[in-house]
Amino acid sequence: MKIAAILSASLCLAAALLAQSGYDRSNLDTSCKPCDDFWRYANGGWLDRNSIPARYPSWGTMQVMRDGNRERLRAILEAASANKAAKPGSNEKRIGDLYAGCMDTARIDSLGAAPIQPLLDRVAAIASVRDLAAVLVEFHRSGAASPVGLMSMQDLKNSKEVIAAVMAGGISLPDRDYYLKDDARSKLLRDEFVKHVARMLVLAGGKPDAAAAGARAILDLETAQARVMMTNVQRRDPYARYHRMDFAALSALTPDFDWKPVFRNVNVPESTAINVAEPDVLKQFNSQLKAAPLDTWRVWLRWRVASAAAPRLSKPFFDENFSFTAIMTGVKEQEPRWQTCADAVDRSLGDALGQAFVEKHYPPEAGKRMNELVENLRVTLREELAGAAWLEESTRANAVKKLNAFIPKIGYPRRWRDYSAVKIDSKSYLESVRSASLAARAHQIAKIGKPVDRNDWGMTPPTVNAYYSPLLNEIAFPAGILQPPMFDVRADDAMNYGAIGAVIGHEMGHGFDDQGSKFDAEGNLKDWWTGGDRKKFEARAACVIDEFNALDVGDGLRHNGKLVVGEALGDLGGLTLAFKAWQRSLGGKPAPVIDGFTGEQRFFLAFARVWGAQYRAEAVRLQLNTNPHPLPRFRAIGTLQNVPAFHKAFDCKAGDAMVRPPDKQCKLW
Ligand SMILES: [Zn+2]
Repeated sequence: MKIAAILSASLCLAAALLAQSGYDRSNLDTSCKPCDDFWRYANGGWLDRNSIPARYPSWGTMQVMRDGNRERLRAILEAASANKAAKPGSNEKRIGDLYAGCMDTARIDSLGAAPIQPLLDRVAAIASVRDLAAVLVEFHRSGAASPVGLMSMQDLKNSKEVIAAVMAGGISLPDRDYYLKDDARSKLLRDEFVKHVARMLVLAGGKPDAAAAGARAILDLETAQARVMMTNVQRRDPYARYHRMDFAALSALTPDFDWKPVFRNVNVPESTAINVAEPDVLKQFNSQLKAAPLDTWRVWLRWRVASAAAPRLSKPFFDENFSFTAIMTGVKEQEPRWQTCADAVDRSLGDALGQAFVEKHYPPEAGKRMNELVENLRVTLREELAGAAWLEESTRANAVKKLNAFIPKIGYPRRWRDYSAVKIDSKSYLESVRSASLAARAHQIAKIGKPVDRNDWGMTPPTVNAYYSPLLNEIAFPAGILQPPMFDVRADDAMNYGAIGAVIGHEMGHGFDDQGSKFDAEGNLKDWWTGGDRKKFEARAACVIDEFNALDVGDGLRHNGKLVVGEALGDLGGLTLAFKAWQRSLGGKPAPVIDGFTGEQRFFLAFARVWGAQYRAEAVRLQLNTNPHPLPRFRAIGTLQNVPAFHKAFDCKAGDAMVRPPDKQCKLW
């Protein structure tokens, strides 16, 4: 770290450094003052040159990286599917065959609705509530549409224990609010949804009149479910989702639905402890089981079977599915088939494809450099926590204990998943995907009652993202995000700290956000904040909630501060931390001026560059309604408005748009 900084400082050949700074001046909009709108200043040039491609809801730095990775996956998959010598039973054969099966649209089209016909027939034969329950159990086992589900999870209050998670409910729109809100756009979406469902039912063999009536009945059935569901803000409270019970208590929630065969089918003993995140939804399911007409259940199951399979069925199904996606997100045309298929293999055989991706595109030195960055941020955060005068001694000690226990995962899982149970047949695309998803579920359910396996990741290696898991107390950075402009082993430190450093800080920050702060060093839901410290923390979080509630995002729209507070806290804490860690890495030496920018300026430019993205109007609304992440533009602006080091770097003054009044500036560390 130190060596790199000294080397840079001693080099006076600006051109040599330009190539390494990783910053392209043509990305800027220098007609916009940094202190008026830093997001625009840092990204305006790029945004003006890069309109949103018709096939995407949004387009920006992360999406460009994602697209690049998909090109890499395409090369791997085309080579695998063309390799006639690939050994039967090998991962190369599996990913190649699944990709080929997906690409073979002539065959998929020729099959029409045939791949789902047996399921539709089964639904048609339902003649009693008893039959209905039997079909639900059967569909749950086979992975076809089901309003009930059983999964594994770590017990929130004893993270070492893996128990069963039972859920119910079946809403098709992205969030409960879509069923309940009365504004014009919500009403329009519900109208479009009903039309879309009706068209899908016709494709699945229904008559138009009956399909239209069925679609309205489906909306009513799902609306009744939505009414008892928690809001996305309520769900952020882990205590509200914690209802540990035994099999008898579960059965008491649904006296008319027998869970025994559900458990038996997936080999989970009834003695297993169970968490039911939303008991009210289960109760509602039970009452609907008897109260809703069998006709409604039959049509709902037909809809769900067809809709779930549509992306893997013939063109009419695929197109119908796309038509509703287009309404929700504003996309204008379909992606090329190879992109759909690369994503499909990534979802179904993530480790097999990820292993090939990592071998080709993940240099070992990247992992080494990332480890250094993570540890430098950890040291810095430890100092911050230890010196946090607003916290009592014991809270500080608990926070440091939690930080010390953080486990970083970088690049890819050290043990790759065994896919030998997955049957891939290039002639039967839907069946192949089902086989993979059943194996994935079996893998998850097999964890119940066993010690926690820390090997598995929550994202596949090519993913351009990162995450924090409160129950495992780990931060993970897939290989896919470790590339320019986010991370570059050759780039100068200011750029790396401002981009990936702030991401590392963000993920660490999740350990101390509105949700993560409720879990201790062992990943247990437990209050480790003493006295008034929790209240002081909540006051700091409230500052960010107020800030995002007040930000005008255009068209009179606002973020829901309570929904985005965790991510916004992660951004604010992460950026502050990355800046301090970067300064620490300089070891007292000034950072060089490169490309006309001071080190401080490059640091903040790199940060804002990550969030250079534009969204379609529909995608803005979808994100505001459902996504705990603020819009990228406001992740840059909303964060930087609170950061004095940024104001100093660009000489922003009180009264500038990028400076919140000092008494309103939010601060975590
Ligand atoms: Zn996050």
